[in-house]
Amino acid sequence: MQIKHSLDKNNTLYCSKVFPTQYKNRKIIGHNALLGIGGNIGDCVRRFTHLFYFLQKSSFVTIIETSPILKNPPFGYIDQNDFFNAVIHIKTMLNPKQLLEYTQKIEDRFGRIRHFDNAPRTLDIDILFFDDQDINSKNLIVPHPHWQERESVLIPLKKMKGVKWLKRHL
Ligand code: AMP
Repeated sequence: MQIKHSLDKNNTLYCSKVFPTQYKNRKIIGHNALLGIGGNIGDCVRRFTHLFYFLQKSSFVTIIETSPILKNPPFGYIDQNDFFNAVIHIKTMLNPKQLLEYTQKIEDRFGRIRHFDNAPRTLDIDILFFDDQDINSKNLIVPHPHWQERESVLIPLKKMKGVKWLKRHL
């Protein structure tokens, strides 16, 4: 069952069984990373749920907290469906490059096809933050560029409780 909560004419928050959720007692060693997930093709809430259970079974990451899901209008190429976005806090022993490779494999597994910039997509996974690191390599920029301007990140992030490790940014 989903609970809908309209924030304004553009933004609606959805709650499902696993978005939001928080595991307070998970004392896991590893890096803190925040993943931004998004999609606007087909049943995104269902896909996010599948992603949640996929990550929960993964030996590479441990889910600590998920945000509610935000439905919001597209930007850039605007002649497309509204987007669904959420944020997932994970712990991982992977390094940033390995985490990027892993998330790209997951995108492929969930059927992402790259047509053009800002095009409709089944599942997009961005690394928003990785510990307190600033990374500026060819394939990876962290914190993710423009996160501060995107309601698709800011609104779900604001609803999360256990992100004190981000205090330099918040
Ligand atoms: P997108 O179309 O938004 O999924 O962009 C994918 C490309 O962005 C990939 O080729 C990544 O190498 C690059 N990229 C740079 N920084 C990041 C980041 N923080 N998270 C995910 N992808 C990134």
